[in-house]
Amino acid sequence: MDYPLTLTQFFERTRRVYPKKVLGTRVPGVGLEKLTYAAWADRTARLAAALARLGVKKGDRVGTLAWNSHRHLEVYFAAPMMGAVLHTVNLRLAPQDITYIVNHAEDQVLIADASLWPILEPIRKDLKTVRHIIMMKNAPGEELPPGSLDYEALLREAAPVTDWPRLDENDAAGMCYTSGTTGHPKGVVYSHRAVYLHSFVSSMADTFGVSERDVILHIVPMFHANAWCVPFAGVLNGATQFFGGPNPQPRDIIEMIHNERVTFVGAVPTVWIAIHAILEKEPQWDISSVRCIPIGGSAAPRSLLEIFDKKYGANMLHAWGMTEMTPLGTTCRLKSYMEALPDEERYAIKAKQGFAVAGVDLRIVDEAGREQPWDGKSVGEIQVRGPWIASGYYNNPAGAAQLTADGWFRTGDVAAIDSEGYVQITDRTKDLIKSGGEWISSVDLETTIMGHPKVLEAAVIAVPHERWQERPLACVVPKPEYKDSLTAQEILDYLAPRVAKWWLPDEVTFIEAVPKTSVGKFDKKVLRERFKAWTPKA
Ligand code: AMP
Repeated sequence: MDYPLTLTQFFERTRRVYPKKVLGTRVPGVGLEKLTYAAWADRTARLAAALARLGVKKGDRVGTLAWNSHRHLEVYFAAPMMGAVLHTVNLRLAPQDITYIVNHAEDQVLIADASLWPILEPIRKDLKTVRHIIMMKNAPGEELPPGSLDYEALLREAAPVTDWPRLDENDAAGMCYTSGTTGHPKGVVYSHRAVYLHSFVSSMADTFGVSERDVILHIVPMFHANAWCVPFAGVLNGATQFFGGPNPQPRDIIEMIHNERVTFVGAVPTVWIAIHAILEKEPQWDISSVRCIPIGGSAAPRSLLEIFDKKYGANMLHAWGMTEMTPLGTTCRLKSYMEALPDEERYAIKAKQGFAVAGVDLRIVDEAGREQPWDGKSVGEIQVRGPWIASGYYNNPAGAAQLTADGWFRTGDVAAIDSEGYVQITDRTKDLIKSGGEWISSVDLETTIMGHPKVLEAAVIAVPHERWQERPLACVVPKPEYKDSLTAQEILDYLAPRVAKWWLPDEVTFIEAVPKTSVGKFDKKVLRERFKAWTPKA
């Protein structure tokens, strides 16, 4: 049967099958605001009607500037199901980037958290295509800025849509802009089909295994690759879903996991490093309800995987992907016959990025375009293809360079793949250190250094060297209690038995914090700039 794979299909099933299941959002100082799926679905259908009344038509972009909330999830479904396109704007970007993105996407309507008005106000006049700004209150009693529309009032006044338009599965459902470190951000468009299939693959037992029994806490921002698209999988399965609300801090996350017996909560490594720091000091928190912590966005240090597993009983699942991949590419599950391996070997595997999820084809290719063998040693750029991989960038002809002549997407990540398909990322193309003609993995050095018990964070960058062309410089942030006592020699002594001798950084320098991009990744560009005048010690 020619059954279009659209979000409407599983939204309608879920509203009938799981009406009693619960969603909720953290309201600071109040607790969790909860509602049933039945109420949420009704609100979603009202929002679609309200948007139509405001003149939103098929193909129009509906922007959001918002934290994670069940309201944001209402837009996630209302906009695509009425034929419009959900465009989640990254609120951590600089004002000029937000302006560029909204104008480039030509958003017609912007739905924003009232608490984010200070971001919007200064740029409002520059948002050329935005006809209406709809404000969502984050807390009771919040004032709405003049000239904006009240989200709740719009919902109250609208009659819910009952007859959704029949869409083509290749219609655009959503779009996100990548937080490129150079040049303008680039837009990635997701079709209904891509999100539909991605939601099913996220529900497979051997990937995230999202199910009705899960209590999901959304910490990955809904403006970053659709919170890894987990909210869609949550609705598909009727899972209990809680949203972190405005700017959740590590302590908020711990409290929600403990109080709500959360089973599934993904986040980037930085977040888990901070959570571990609190849990170490405050043993009263119990996070053992968590069956799966998908961790990715940057390489998860092996030490972290081991600690969460052994100390807190919360299993981490290393995953790799990117905005252009909706984002799932690989997950790192041990195969059944690996469970009996000694710890040393198990964690060495779990620290890899894992193997391709069903639906994604993956290969590594060297600089000359030759496909490399899966021998665990040969490295090359990862190239991917599949039904949820971007085939280009929105209104950006230069983006075609991201595709190979035979139609694969170039990820810019460099990896080796072993004979069982496990991918191990060694670096990004621009981030390898080439010393005397041989590669050093800055990622490997960082994750090893971050295994040192006195280290909070570490970033390793390439610095120019007269003899070797490049050498590694380690920029280390000690844990606060070791700020004045940790020495460079301790780091080098820790590294010495763990890496090749010539990999040892030429210098270990201590810094206050590793600079981060808007989505919390290490911003090595800033470090490279800071240490560009670095000279090797004699
Ligand atoms: P983004 O599109 O912002 O999500 O960034 C995607 C990029 O983050 C990938 O191309 C990788 O360079 C990096 N990344 C994502 N997940 C991982 C991971 N598990 N390990 C190492 N790098 C990762």
